[in-house]
Amino acid sequence: MHAPTRARFLIPFLALILVSGAAPARAQQSPPPTQPASTQSQPAQPTPPTQSTPEQPASQAYTLPPAILAKAITLTRLRAILAFGGTAWTILVLLLVLAWRWPAALRNWAERITPGKWRQGLLFLPPAIIFLTVVSLPFDIYSQHIQRAYGLSVQSWPSWTLDQLKGLALSIVVMTPLLLLLFWIIRKSPRKWWLWFWLCTLPIIVFAVFISPIWIEPMFNHFSPLQQSDPALTVRLEQLAHHAGLDIPPSRMFLMKASEKVTGLNAYVTGIGASKRIVVWDNTIKKLPTNEILFVVGHEMGHYVLHHIYKALAFTALVLVVLLWLAYVCVGWLICRFQSRWQIRSMDDWAALAVLLLVFTCFSFLFSPITNSFSRWEEHQADVFGQEAIHSLVPDPQVTAQKAFVALGSTYLEAPNPNPLVKFWLYSHPSISERANFAAHYDPWLPGRHPRYFQK
Ligand SMILES: [Zn+2]
Repeated sequence: MHAPTRARFLIPFLALILVSGAAPARAQQSPPPTQPASTQSQPAQPTPPTQSTPEQPASQAYTLPPAILAKAITLTRLRAILAFGGTAWTILVLLLVLAWRWPAALRNWAERITPGKWRQGLLFLPPAIIFLTVVSLPFDIYSQHIQRAYGLSVQSWPSWTLDQLKGLALSIVVMTPLLLLLFWIIRKSPRKWWLWFWLCTLPIIVFAVFISPIWIEPMFNHFSPLQQSDPALTVRLEQLAHHAGLDIPPSRMFLMKASEKVTGLNAYVTGIGASKRIVVWDNTIKKLPTNEILFVVGHEMGHYVLHHIYKALAFTALVLVVLLWLAYVCVGWLICRFQSRWQIRSMDDWAALAVLLLVFTCFSFLFSPITNSFSRWEEHQADVFGQEAIHSLVPDPQVTAQKAFVALGSTYLEAPNPNPLVKFWLYSHPSISERANFAAHYDPWLPGRHPRYFQK
């Protein structure tokens, strides 16, 4: 869920490698890169049902009052435009820099300075990463502007800029050695590099997922043991875990001080092995009644016990090998075809990085419906788990879950009826309407029905 807007160009490539550390740790909310709600305290309370309009049929479990609805529809459209526009912009810029032969010029400069391949890489890669980050900056700035304008972000521009700089530094530190490795493997094995590099990335991905909550996430947010800040809630959550028959000790529960930057509600599961944990945003605790927090955390426990991180890792690995093979085929073809125009000699040419990113961006975009479908499937499982987990702990699990979704949706200004194509393509979670509707009608404790994950 944390796919940051910064370094948009690197995302297609890195998303599957580094950011996969955060990707399986999906949060409660659907499209969170563009975050939360209108100013200060959007109602944690469920929004009262409104009269039916063409935008929101009366039968829906998730409705918004007209004033919020108008904002939500505009914002939902803006998010889609930013997402599709961002990809189009990336592709356009990469095509332009190739046409202008900038990658070749940068490579020539590096080659003039040193004959050593590794040193050339150290000269070529950081400027390339900085350039790509700078080019995506207008989108990132506009995105943050919208977040602030709609009251979803309370982060100051200096603080936001600092986060961008940290993100850039992280990209350089992580991507440079990774790309050095990639190009070394391409030089050693021009035909099978995609397979060898994939094998190398597998332990790197697992390592990234492991260190992400310990080293990377604390660079951007403050975390503290939940037990310290909210012992009463921790006790309730332990009850929930116990009721669900899970082994999630309080030492694995953390509070994230999200209110320094955003107004949205969230919780997520992250890490692997010894670093595996449940994180709850402080906004969630401030704005949601305890029963609804239990549902939100129950959903996260679902991710935890249904091994969604491991499944997402396996899925990521599968997608990555296909992407790498496609990159091998397509980059090779493109370089043959446009060799003289782009002045790129071969696949192991540093300048081929631009072609590689171009192909990765295109295929990542085309693969989005597949990866998001997988994610939505996991999220739905977690919704079912969460609702079953709070059974007998709260008076009415259906209403509790539904109210939690209404609070989430109104906080994040989610339109009740997003465009189906946009939903199919971009949504990592089912839409809030779908989730609220499901919750309102899901009661496996009725006679003749059976809970999916819990014994009656
Ligand atoms: Zn989730």
